Amino acid sequence: MNISGTTKIYGILGWPVAHSLSPLMHNAAFVAMEINAVYVPFPVREANLPQAVTGLRALNVQGVNVTIPHKQKIIPFLDRLSPEARAIGAVNTVAREGDTLVGYNTDASGFLRSLQYDLGFSPCGRRVVVLGAGGAARACVYALCQAGTAEVAIANRSRTRAEALCDEFRPLCSGTRLDVLSLSKKALAESCSTADLIVNTTSIGLAATGASDPLPWGIINSETLLYDVVYKPDSTPLVKRARANNMAARDGIGMLIAQGEEAFRIWTGHNPGESMRRAVANAT
Ligand code: NDP
Repeated sequence: MNISGTTKIYGILGWPVAHSLSPLMHNAAFVAMEINAVYVPFPVREANLPQAVTGLRALNVQGVNVTIPHKQKIIPFLDRLSPEARAIGAVNTVAREGDTLVGYNTDASGFLRSLQYDLGFSPCGRRVVVLGAGGAARACVYALCQAGTAEVAIANRSRTRAEALCDEFRPLCSGTRLDVLSLSKKALAESCSTADLIVNTTSIGLAATGASDPLPWGIINSETLLYDVVYKPDSTPLVKRARANNMAARDGIGMLIAQGEEAFRIWTGHNPGESMRRAVANAT
C-alpha cells in the first residue's frame, strides 16, 4: 500500500472498533483492485458523533461504515438516505456524493446474499422465524420481505418491540405475512417445526452467563436451516447446537463480508471479487 497525496480515505465509525474485521477486508480489496485508498478505524464515542460527522465532511473522507452505537443516531447528520436505510431506520454505510453524505444500509442485502451464498437459501415463498427485534432484525426482516418471503414470525424477549416492528413494516411488506411469535414453548414449537429457516439476531447463548437459547431443538426438522447473524472465530453456540441437530447452519461472517462487498461497490463502483472473503479466511 502506497500512501500518496491523492490517497482516498475510508473508515469505520463506532465504539468500540478495535475488534472490527472491516479494515482488513476493505484494505485487502483496495490492494487487490489497485485502488489508491486506505480504510482506517475511527473510534468515536456516542457524545462525539456530531463532531465526527463534521470532521468527515471537513477532511474529505470518501466513505465510512457505521457500527454500534451509531447506526441510528447518525441519520440526522446525513444529507440523504437510500430507500433501504430509510425503511430500516439504520445506516451502516455512508458515501460522499459530491458535497453530500448519503446513508445506505447494506446489512439487508448482505444478509440475503449470505443466505444464498452460504446456505443456498432463497426466501421467496418460504416460512421464516426471526429471533430478536433490534437493529439487525430490522435489516433481516426488511430483506426477507423484499425477497418475497411468504411468512415471517418474530419472537423477541420484549414482545412490544416485536409488535412495533411488525406494525411498522406491514405497510412496506404487502406480500409477506408478518406475525409476532410468543416465546412460550408451545408457540415456538409450532412455529419452528414448520419453518424453512430460523434466523437469530440476538446475543442469546453468547454471554458466559446469559440466557440459554429458547429453541425447541427436539422437534425442529433437520431440513430447517439456521442462520445466526452473530459471528465468532470458532462459530457460535447456536450454530454448533443446530449442527448437532443435523441442521445446516451458518454464522454471520458471510453477512459481514457481503455487507462490506456492497459498501465497497457503492464507494468505488468496483466488485471486490474474492479479496474480502480471502482476507477474512486468512485472518480467522
Ligand atoms: P440490538 O441491541 O439492536 O438488538 C439486540 C436484540 O437481542 C434485541 O432483540 C434484544 O431483545 C435481544 N437480546 C439481547 N440480549 C438478550 C438476552 N440475554 N436474551 C434474549 N434476547 C436478548 O443489537 P443489533 O440488532 O444491532 O445486533 C445484534 C447482533 O447482531 C450483534 O451481536 C451484532 O454484532 C450482530 N450483527 C451482525 C451483523 C453481521 O454482519 N453479521 C450485522 C449487524 C449485527 P430486547 O428487545 O428484548 O432487548
